[in-house]
Amino acid sequence: MNDIIIIGAGTAGLSAAIYARRAGKKALILEALSYGGQIINTPEVENYPGIKNISGFDFATGLYEQAADLGAEIEYVRVTGIESNADGSKTVHTTDGDRECKAVIIATGAKNRPLGIEREEELTGSGVSYCATCDGAFYKKKSVAVNGGGNTAIEDAGFLSNFCSKVYVIHRRDEFRADVHEVEKLKAKENVEFILDSEVTALLGDDELTGIEVTNKKTGEKKELEISGLFIAIGQMPDNTAFASVVDLDEKGYIIGKEDCLTNTPGVFTAGDCRTKAVRQLTTAAADGAVAALAAAAYCG
Ligand SMILES: Cc1cc2nc3c(=O)[nH]c(=O)nc-3n(C[C@H](O)[C@H](O)[C@H](O)COP(=O)(O)OP(=O)(O)OC[C@H]3O[C@@H](n4cnc5c(N)ncnc54)[C@H](O)[C@@H]3O)c2cc1C
Repeated sequence: MNDIIIIGAGTAGLSAAIYARRAGKKALILEALSYGGQIINTPEVENYPGIKNISGFDFATGLYEQAADLGAEIEYVRVTGIESNADGSKTVHTTDGDRECKAVIIATGAKNRPLGIEREEELTGSGVSYCATCDGAFYKKKSVAVNGGGNTAIEDAGFLSNFCSKVYVIHRRDEFRADVHEVEKLKAKENVEFILDSEVTALLGDDELTGIEVTNKKTGEKKELEISGLFIAIGQMPDNTAFASVVDLDEKGYIIGKEDCLTNTPGVFTAGDCRTKAVRQLTTAAADGAVAALAAAAYCG
């Protein structure tokens, strides 16, 4: 019997493993792909306090090695469900049989919704980004575009307009889902230009993004914009349906959990990007990992 099973070896899951081991608990991490999570392919991280600059791979490897050196175990299997047993223990179903434990931490993260256009994956990290908070600073005094019409897109555009020379906001409709007040504030900025009823239809440039092709959905007219960065802000996709029988999910599929990382089921905790929260970053994922692990350790007794 494991004390704590942690689902997901991203920043939240690995941080949880470090805290669980230091609390003297037997910790098993179950990971569907490889350790590291979303940050693994990012060339530069510059906003993790205490580390000026590091690649996503080195950041994730440091976390993994710290957890492994402390005695956390990792198995590469996908978790397909959790059952809460009458005695309070949990059975975790995986693609390779069941595992038993006293407490579970779900740290399955989320994926950014892609635009689904050619070369998007290839140019991610070379001009294409899904996170203005993470990568915006690399585009100081440059022209960029934000694609999307919700609050995140409008907030991202506002943030970028503070230090980028030009910010295009490209949206497929002529109305925004974002707060009207925020849209109006953005419209008043001189370096922001709205391109509505339009879609990004091609990414230009060889090894680095140098521009985009934008197509007006109503007229079919195409134009090219010279930009160094494209920020795609059309939503995130959490994948927690496998856990819906044991934890409550919000309408977008995030696990309902606050700063205490508790869920509606005793002994099931949640950490990182997979839970309801306002800021999804490495710092908040690591903080959740610590909080969830200490709560899980207390539940194990
Ligand atoms: C391109 C990019 C750049 C970013 N740059 C920065 C940055 O510079 N600074 C910053 O602070 N943040 C950055 N972020 C955000 C940051 O990466 C996330 O906030 C952070 O990774 C969240 O960690 P997490 O552990 O909650 O989730 P994740 O990193 O998503 O890890 C979740 C893990 O769970 C696994 N998993 C999912 N479902 C299952 C299952 N059913 N069974 C087993 N395993 C499962 C996944 O395979 C994954 O490894 C960036 C994100 C992206 C995409």
